[in-house]
Amino acid sequence: MVDGATGATLGVEALVRWRDGATLVPPDLFIPIAERSELILELDRWVLDAAVAQAARWANEPRLGHLTFAVNLSSRHVLARSLVGQIRSALARHRVDPSRLIIEVTESALLNDLEAAAETLGQLRAMGVCVAIDDFGTGYTSIAHLRGLPIDILKIDRSFVSNIDRFDDRTLIKLIVETGHLLGCVVIAEGVETPHQEAVLRSLGVDQIQGYLIGPPIPPSEMVIALARGALVAAEQLPTSGIAQGVGVSGR
Ligand code: MN
Repeated sequence: MVDGATGATLGVEALVRWRDGATLVPPDLFIPIAERSELILELDRWVLDAAVAQAARWANEPRLGHLTFAVNLSSRHVLARSLVGQIRSALARHRVDPSRLIIEVTESALLNDLEAAAETLGQLRAMGVCVAIDDFGTGYTSIAHLRGLPIDILKIDRSFVSNIDRFDDRTLIKLIVETGHLLGCVVIAEGVETPHQEAVLRSLGVDQIQGYLIGPPIPPSEMVIALARGALVAAEQLPTSGIAQGVGVSGR
């Protein structure tokens, strides 16, 4: 995720890939299968642990230490009793500041049991973890639902961004931005691929962007290189940075 105004890199999103020999299996081929069973809980847990471990490794690196880590959770997992304990123990085990972790959940995950989800998210937030609603705008969450949920970030679904030249989509983005800001949320656009999309999103008030325009998904080892060659801008290279707000991210 980068700041819409300054271009500073604020954070990363952990994206899982499955290496099968020489090929990388894309997530849309194995996640839906894992989601049919409890396997997804194990996969989520593995990604969470790997992301937090990476955050710990970067904690003392000058250009990487401030980056936030966004981790996607399946809808099954949001309602699992063990979730809060797992997150707490991963952060403690790797000694990572909770404010560097962003948990991303989709609208559908919340609507299955709004009350239980609100309670879980509230506990995460009390711990200092940030909560994001992922792929926002495609589900059935009403403004009344949102108001009752402890959330910090709204991530606009990529479909609105790819259709940004349609009047309807642009209007919906504007509405999402206004709603998000009214609720005190940071609004992030995913799937940004062109400078034109970026410019329009900025004019609509979107706070942060992520997507191929910033860079394709890369392994952690390449982050330092990407920052060094200027493909990504480290926050401390900028005269004034928006780092203090502490959230930033990249989509599943
Ligand atoms: Mn995501």
